[in-house]
Amino acid sequence: MASLRQGCGDLRGLVSTFTQSCQCSLSEARGQVSWALGALSAGRGGTQLPEEQRGPPTGCPGRLLELKGNIRVLCRLRPGTPSSLVSSEPGPSGTVTTCYRGRQRRFRLDWVFSPEASQEEVFRELEPAVLSCLRGYSVCIFTYGQTGTGKTYSMEGPPEDPGIAPRALQSLFQEMGTGGQHRVTLSMVEIYNEAVRDLLAPGPPERLAVRQGPAGQGGIQVAGLTYWDVPNLETLHQMLSLGRSNRATAATTKNRHSSRSHALVTLTLRAASPPRGPGTAGTEARTRAPRVVRARSTRNQGSLHVGLARPRRHPASG
Ligand code: ADP
Ligand code: MG
Repeated sequence: MASLRQGCGDLRGLVSTFTQSCQCSLSEARGQVSWALGALSAGRGGTQLPEEQRGPPTGCPGRLLELKGNIRVLCRLRPGTPSSLVSSEPGPSGTVTTCYRGRQRRFRLDWVFSPEASQEEVFRELEPAVLSCLRGYSVCIFTYGQTGTGKTYSMEGPPEDPGIAPRALQSLFQEMGTGGQHRVTLSMVEIYNEAVRDLLAPGPPERLAVRQGPAGQGGIQVAGLTYWDVPNLETLHQMLSLGRSNRATAATTKNRHSSRSHALVTLTLRAASPPRGPGTAGTEARTRAPRVVRARSTRNQGSLHVGLARPRRHPASG
């Protein structure tokens, strides 16, 4: 009886949360529809919307929905067939069917990459998201999976076949061009045994304090952190290897040590005038106030990542 009561209480809670989230989604959808209708009628009437009103404005419900819809989950299958994999249909809206404790489950994802998929194929899917940060969008890409499933391979990859992070940096620098429209700065910290260390400090790595920054300024701030100007990709790579060599775990690649160390690489891009879209970087100067966009990547186990996590518990490992 007690457990039934408990179950009943849990269900009630679920139902009420579900109702609330439905109402929330509904009102966001209404906002999106009314914004779209407004934009449509303005277009039909032959009037051009002012430039800053083209596309959902920041802060309106439509924009919220757009951001929510932009969460995409991609799955990359590693070479070698694990016993739990029953079948897969690679490609857009692909599926993966697994069997765990005799029970089959089918997952549909935004994209499924087959074990033969190349690093380039994977990056091609992510490149538009990476480049959208030059238009002021906040972008986060991270890999998630059990140890040995290919997170490091996908994010960093071997030098002869680089993964997402090096390709993302190359693509960003290529897109920014040499027009001098962007100022790029780099900082690199290591979180090791709860301490935050500045990996690019001119002296030995210092221990720094982390504070909550003022609203609208990127949340967390690390006081006294070193920022270096990055004129080009080559210099960036030199700075990254300097930071890498300053890590507490630089001397060892053992998982036992490296899992205690997480490095955070922050590349800050300041655009004097926001370009209109891919291929237009550095074309014309406008009289807008400078704005800051950020591309963030974290490093773990001596490799450059754009975010990485291991699940706490994995069905296959019990
Ligand atoms: P994780 O970082 O998730 O613990 P790794 O990226 O280190 O896993 O991958 C484990 C091993 O599998 C590595 O030797 C890696 O080179 C290899 N591997 C993972 N994914 C692929 C892939 N798509 N193609 C070739 N080798 C891969
Ligand atoms: Mg790894």
